[in-house]
Amino acid sequence: MTPLEKKQLDEIHQHAVEEYPFECCGIVVGHPKHNKENKVYRCKNIQNKLHETDPENFTRDARTAYNISALELQKLLDEAGSKGWVFKVLYHSHPEHDAYFSEEDTKMALFDGESPIYPGTQYLVVSVYSKKVRDQALFGWNPKTKTFERNPL
Ligand SMILES: [Zn+2]
Repeated sequence: MTPLEKKQLDEIHQHAVEEYPFECCGIVVGHPKHNKENKVYRCKNIQNKLHETDPENFTRDARTAYNISALELQKLLDEAGSKGWVFKVLYHSHPEHDAYFSEEDTKMALFDGESPIYPGTQYLVVSVYSKKVRDQALFGWNPKTKTFERNPL
């Protein structure tokens, strides 16, 4: 079952366009068995701030990277968990790039190169060119191949 309905995709696309030329990021939480209560939360991409204060460790700015504050994410997930909701999707955009799951994306989704930080969560990547959504793709962890594979949307 796809974790996203058209309504959530529309909201995410809107977010991606508004943040252009920077990457947007956010999450979708909802009931584990259906999508009727799905909710999209926009998160703040703190990558520009990280890049400004520590350019040696954060070489990219928010045009080619995203970073969500651990505190912001934990608050949203705690709130979702208290309602019995699950963390369905983590989304981000690729301004002027295609909707692939990059090496950096893979690195950020894993603890030690082989364990997903959020095992049941899928990753949506939205490609935006010239402030228009061009493409999107959903990726999920395959424990057998130990890679993120493209899932049907
Ligand atoms: Zn990416």
